Parts: sequence; C-alpha cells; structure tokens
Amino acid sequence: MTLYKKDIASNAKLIRTCSIWRALDVVGDVPTLLVLQALWLQESRFSGIQQRTSLPKALLSDRLRMLIGAGLIEKRDEAQGDAGPGYRFTKKGRDLYWVTLMLHRWETRWASAPAGFTIRLTHTTCGHAASPAPVCGHCRTEFSARDVDWEEGPGLGLMLPHYARRRQKRELAAAADNRMLFTDAAQLLGDRWASLILRSVLTGLHRYDQILDDTAMATNILTERLNWLIDLDVLKATQYGQSENRLEYRLTRKGIDYFPVLVMLQRWGDMYYGAPEGPPVIFHHRPCGHELEPIVACAHCVEPLWLRDTHVELSPATRRKG
Ligand SMILES: [Zn+2]
Ligand SMILES: [Zn+2]
Repeated sequence: MTLYKKDIASNAKLIRTCSIWRALDVVGDVPTLLVLQALWLQESRFSGIQQRTSLPKALLSDRLRMLIGAGLIEKRDEAQGDAGPGYRFTKKGRDLYWVTLMLHRWETRWASAPAGFTIRLTHTTCGHAASPAPVCGHCRTEFSARDVDWEEGPGLGLMLPHYARRRQKRELAAAADNRMLFTDAAQLLGDRWASLILRSVLTGLHRYDQILDDTAMATNILTERLNWLIDLDVLKATQYGQSENRLEYRLTRKGIDYFPVLVMLQRWGDMYYGAPEGPPVIFHHRPCGHELEPIVACAHCVEPLWLRDTHVELSPATRRKG
C-alpha cells in the first residue's frame, strides 16, 4: 500500500516508494530473472528453461506460476509434447525488453566472466548490428547518470518497507553461469536491498546514516550489502572528515553505468504500477533541457529498438587465446 506525505502523522519508519521499487517487487529476484532470460533466449518449454537456468524444478515451477500471476507470461494452449508445457511473454512481459537490453549492455561491459556464448542482435529496419544505447527521446543523444537531474514527482509516496525473507540466491546465478547472458547483472537486480542502496546513492545520499534512514534496513543487512557492492566494484567508500569511521559511498564508473538499467525499470514500473497522481520521479536531460523520455535506441540509426524489429542469433563464444 502506498501512503502519501499528507497522511503521515506518526514517526513510523517509512521509505520512499517509487516505480523502481514496485517493479522490483515483481522482477527483483534472481530465479525470476533467470527464467525471463531463458525466455528471451528463445526457450519456451519447461525442460528447455530448466536446462538453461539450472533451477531446481520446484523452484522453476514456483517462479513460472508467479510470472503468470503477475501477468508477464502465459501458458500456451497447444499440444504439449514431451518437453512439457510452453510459455510465452504477454505484452507486459515483452515491455521489459528495454530493461533486458540494458542489463545485457551492462554485462557486456562489466561482467566478471564472459558468458559461454555470444548473442548477435540485428536491427532489421536498418539492417545493421544492433548495439542498444540508452538515449534521450528528445535530442536522441545518449544519456548517463552524470547528465540527468531529477526531482520528486507528484506520485512519490512513502511506504512501510516489507522485506520478504527470501533466501539469497546468488549461488543460483553462478550455477547457470555459462548458459546465461547476464549473471552479474541478474545478481545485482535480483537483490532488492542492493537496488534500494543504489537508488539512495543515485539520488545524492552518500553517508551511512542517510542511506540507513532512506532504506530503513537493519544495520547488519545494510553493512553486508554495502560491502558486497564494494566487492562488486559498483560502490567505493571514501573517508570524509576526521574520523576513520566516517565513510561516504560513491558510485564507481561501473556503478554509474548501471543507471540506464534502473531508468528503464522505472519506465516499465511507471507503465504498469504507476500512481494515479503521476510519476514519482521526474528526470531532466541537462544537455537539451527537456524532461527525459528514456528510450533504448539502435546505436546506428538512433531509432527505438523494438523487440519485433530485432533479430537474435546465438553462437558459441570464441575462446580467448592464451
Ligand atoms: Zn536530451
Ligand atoms: Zn538501426
């Protein structure tokens, strides 16, 4: 449930809610992200999805049910065969495509280990290899966290945080490693605590107490996640003031480059989980002065990259020499 500022009387521990958070409620989970990836990689049968993701059957069934319940996929009616039932995206699921492309872009640039295969995207409308770029819809230039300002929008609410006690699934991503496209990115997006911390830091909160206040996490969880994000080289800690214990958390280049993932996730969240009052956060693209309407474009022709105009080809990765 979303509360609004005018309704808050007590000093209950509330955190900012936003479309990113609502979207993470659905997709902020590693097994879920692995299933979505498998579907992007053109697996549609239960057995194929299971093979690619390495998820235990019961867990996979559970996440497929959840995705059907959330309206992202549907079960196909046609004859089932030996491979088990088939699944396909609904429009809501297909609309996550830009999030997927930004996850893939980030992984290509920053992954700790290369995937066991490569993916080649072709933009069929211009005929060129499609390199997806996060672009401002107005001026059609690439945007980054460095040149986007934000302000609170009318739909910004507050909520009581409800952290489901889901077991950490980082090891599952590792198990699926060589058959998936974005395991590092899935680990990051699949951890809602980590995503909340990144949101805090991206909105200008850098000190431990500020982040603690903004996220309402238990201190042990916050400390563990901050250290994990530093290990991943997404955040760096720098000392400020006199005491050694006074640390500020800043994004590394790798962390800054994750911004388009969150922007596209917010766009999707606004589409499907938006507040009637309007968007919770409004971004402005400083170079052109317009409100940022984020699109993922083909880097060649700078037209929006839609799923229907993208041809996907999988091929085994070429082994590195040496
Ligand atoms: Zn612009
Ligand atoms: Zn193109």
